[in-house]
Amino acid sequence: MNSNPKSKIQNPKSDWLHARARLAPNLLSAAPAWVRGVFEHAWAPMQALAGALDCLPAQLWSFLLSHDGGWIVVHPGPSRYVVGPARIAGHDRRNVASISVEDLARGGEMPLHVVGHLVDHYLGCAGDPGGAWLSHGGGLEPAWRAAGERLGRLFALGHAVDEAAAASIEDYFARSLACYCRRPRELNVADPNIWKWFRATLWDDGFWHATVPRPPGAERSM
Ligand SMILES: [Zn+2]
Repeated sequence: MNSNPKSKIQNPKSDWLHARARLAPNLLSAAPAWVRGVFEHAWAPMQALAGALDCLPAQLWSFLLSHDGGWIVVHPGPSRYVVGPARIAGHDRRNVASISVEDLARGGEMPLHVVGHLVDHYLGCAGDPGGAWLSHGGGLEPAWRAAGERLGRLFALGHAVDEAAAASIEDYFARSLACYCRRPRELNVADPNIWKWFRATLWDDGFWHATVPRPPGAERSM
């Protein structure tokens, strides 16, 4: 990928979206009428995506940008995160969070949930296709592995905020992450431990300081 010409990143989320998020071709012309009614112009889904991700911590975007792969495509199909190679607009990419334009138009939690899987994968093993996600015992830093182990113990307590969060350990992470952003009070009542876990990890500066600083523009080759 191109190195960022700016010596200091001003808006990590915008930089990341610019580098890694794409809209499928003819997205709105192929979408149902009600979706076209929500989005007034072709770029509006990207603005909605940026808004949906606004709640996530700024350090996350710099972290993701420092590693190879990890994409978002807003498309007509279902929302899901797929590990491994994919084609986006004629380019070979890998590890793609596909977000349904209908889910984006509904304004619900699904876009955050799907991005949550990407985050889980990258915190665990920087997007290694066979590597362990944070929720499965991975973790690029010792402190992150410890956080992942604690996450497993919290999941085992069975206080997941809803059925979707109870489905699996990775859904526990992704759904709880979305709830932390969108329904924090509800999450704090239903599952206060995971609320505290997020506050002490992704939303704590110390969590990100655990990363070894990489020289600007450095990429892991895998
Ligand atoms: Zn899921």
